Amino acid sequence: MSEKINCPQCGMLLYFGEEISRRLYMRAIPDEAAVLAGYGNVCPRCGASLSVDSVKIEIKRRATSKEGVTHGS
Ligand SMILES: [Zn+2]
Repeated sequence: MSEKINCPQCGMLLYFGEEISRRLYMRAIPDEAAVLAGYGNVCPRCGASLSVDSVKIEIKRRATSKEGVTHGS
C-alpha cells in the first residue's frame, strides 16, 4: 500500500510513500497531521491552510496482478 497526500487547492504533492498508518509502529511518521505540521500546516506553494480533513489523501493498494488494477476506490 502506498499513500499520497496532495494540497486540496493547488495539488502539490505533500507526501508520497508507504501508507502512513502502517509506519506507525516504526514511528517514522506518526500520522498525517504530523506530515502537515512539517509544512507548518500551510501549503508551501499556494499558502492554503492544510488539515487532515481538507487535504486529499489517497491510499493505493499495490497491484498484485494486472487483473487487480481498477479505477476509483
Ligand atoms: Zn497548495
